[in-house]
Amino acid sequence: MNINSIPAESLPHTQGPDLEIVGQKIPPNLIFELRDAPRILGRVLRLALLYRWRFALATASSLGASFFNLAVPLLLGRSVDQAHTMMLANSGYSSGALRALFTTALLVLGATTLRGLLQMISGFQSEYIGQSVGRDLRLAFFEKLQRLGFDYHDRVHSGDLITRGMLDLEGVRGFIENGLQRFISLVLLLSIGIAALFVQDPVMAALTMSFVPLVGWRAARMGLALRRAWTNLQDRMSVLTRVMEENLQGVRVVRAFGSKSHEMEKFDRAGDEALALSNERIYIRSKSMTTINAGYYLAMALVLWIGGHRVANGQISIGQLTEFLTFMTILQLPVRQIGMIMNSSARAVSSGKRLFEVLDLQPTIRNKAGAPALSLTEGELRFDKVHFSYAEEAGAPLILDDISFRVRPGETLGIVGPSGSGKSTLAQLIGRFYDVGSGQILIDGQDIRDVTLASVRRAVGVIQQEAFLFDDSVQNNVAYADPDSEEHRLIDAALTAQIHDYVDSLPSRYATQIGERGVSLSGGQRQRLSIARGLVPDPAIIIFDDATSAVDAATEHLVRHALREATRSRVTLIISHRIGSLMHATEIIVLDQGRIIERGTHAELVAKNGYYAALYRAQSQPAAALDHTFKPEKTVA
Ligand code: ADP
Repeated sequence: MNINSIPAESLPHTQGPDLEIVGQKIPPNLIFELRDAPRILGRVLRLALLYRWRFALATASSLGASFFNLAVPLLLGRSVDQAHTMMLANSGYSSGALRALFTTALLVLGATTLRGLLQMISGFQSEYIGQSVGRDLRLAFFEKLQRLGFDYHDRVHSGDLITRGMLDLEGVRGFIENGLQRFISLVLLLSIGIAALFVQDPVMAALTMSFVPLVGWRAARMGLALRRAWTNLQDRMSVLTRVMEENLQGVRVVRAFGSKSHEMEKFDRAGDEALALSNERIYIRSKSMTTINAGYYLAMALVLWIGGHRVANGQISIGQLTEFLTFMTILQLPVRQIGMIMNSSARAVSSGKRLFEVLDLQPTIRNKAGAPALSLTEGELRFDKVHFSYAEEAGAPLILDDISFRVRPGETLGIVGPSGSGKSTLAQLIGRFYDVGSGQILIDGQDIRDVTLASVRRAVGVIQQEAFLFDDSVQNNVAYADPDSEEHRLIDAALTAQIHDYVDSLPSRYATQIGERGVSLSGGQRQRLSIARGLVPDPAIIIFDDATSAVDAATEHLVRHALREATRSRVTLIISHRIGSLMHATEIIVLDQGRIIERGTHAELVAKNGYYAALYRAQSQPAAALDHTFKPEKTVA
């Protein structure tokens, strides 16, 4: 089994007991993520390093900012000593002492200005890199979604993919923007600071730094706890999104069945759970903040107490004590941010894993190495002993079983059969949306697996029963396959599909918006627009998959007539339940449970007196005479 056949949601999670990291119990799935951390964070880092000059500039600016940040305590210490000396010497406002103090004050101002400037540069560059990587990932993700086969989309919920492309992508981007540079500046600040303080007084330096392990540990715990709560919250949020999405898409069904209260209940439940998890996050944060603050101020009291004694004993100057205290206040913020760094890294790991999983998928349907483009001469379509099953496992039910036929240019193949007999599947195979299990599909004698996918898709046009239209103008919908097509081609296609007169009657004609925010179309009108859209690219092989099911019989007759003219030299396949739609076909095949049970021209099939003939008779009778339990007798040809 390859990775493509595994639903992304069920990719492995390590089983086993909970692991404790910095005293925080980590659920098994998060352990898996932590074990993945070096690989995934390494990959995120490599993405950021694609912008290496900006990254180097951001890091150098962080280094400079840390340096000037640490100069502030030193300068403040010096100024306090200068003021103190002035006081002791009783020199009052002697110009020399005052000048020295003024110089220090200017240096403080200069250092803070430079620090601010460098921080701004580092922040700007980090954000720039984050946004750029976000854009790169978004494009790569969207491109991958376009390339992944229907087999993948059949298995994975679109809501899940949207979450990956939006929230998970933000998780990775946020880490590059905030976590990474914060981490770098914390390391720089701590290492330069520790060195500077230890040189002066190791005991005081140790006391000043004493809050770092406690506060860092608590902050890291908080970060992980918040992360866990966030993951749960995200799960609830995706339930809410799914319920909302389904309710919006199926609004008519929900209302028709009066299921409002049931749907409200589902939504309520997920909403309550999300609220409880949000409250848990607030609780975790408040509790941790209390400990963090207590730890920090306790360390500060120690520094004051012991430092005060050392000042009294003449071991350090009052300025040095000021220096230690100021250093503590400066270091406080980045150390507290360890929580954010942990949170952001954990999020980047889990988000990155989910995102990279999709980015690394290889579409099952892809070009063979060095495959040439399809060389179209006539467009003859041939099925040669085609077998197909949706599942890969041996013994899975065959959806198409030994299908062979040939359609030459100018000919039409009609396909009829009960629901679920494999008609749409057959249509999808021609555009190579799935690959056959065995046998061959040939266009002009070339196996469609041996030529490029793009050239096959260009040669084959499928017009489906479900006419999905974009929330855009009529013109852009009809010209979807070829946005640059000339107006007369759009009008010709619309005329053939018998929709031009209707479009012409709309307030802005072809510029009228349709879809969610525009005019509503009936099922038949949508289908006719979809037919026009399918005709614009002028494919060599055109397949109508129940494409006129919602069009009234009289209009359909007109459409068929016009289509016969428009597709005179093409290979045409018509899948329909209505005999009237395909009775003029060159050959008609009747499918049942994936097998061809009857085949021939309309006249031959009627003469055979089997399934087709029974269906024809039933459809020719006046509606009142129809037996609603009609089930044509199945006869294997
Ligand atoms: P028809 O067009 O004749 O109604 P289909 O080709 O849609 O029939 O379906 C044939 C069979 O294949 C049905 O049993 C259906 O349940 C199954 N089937 C259709 N699409 C899929 C899919 N994407 N994944 C798995 N099974 C499918």
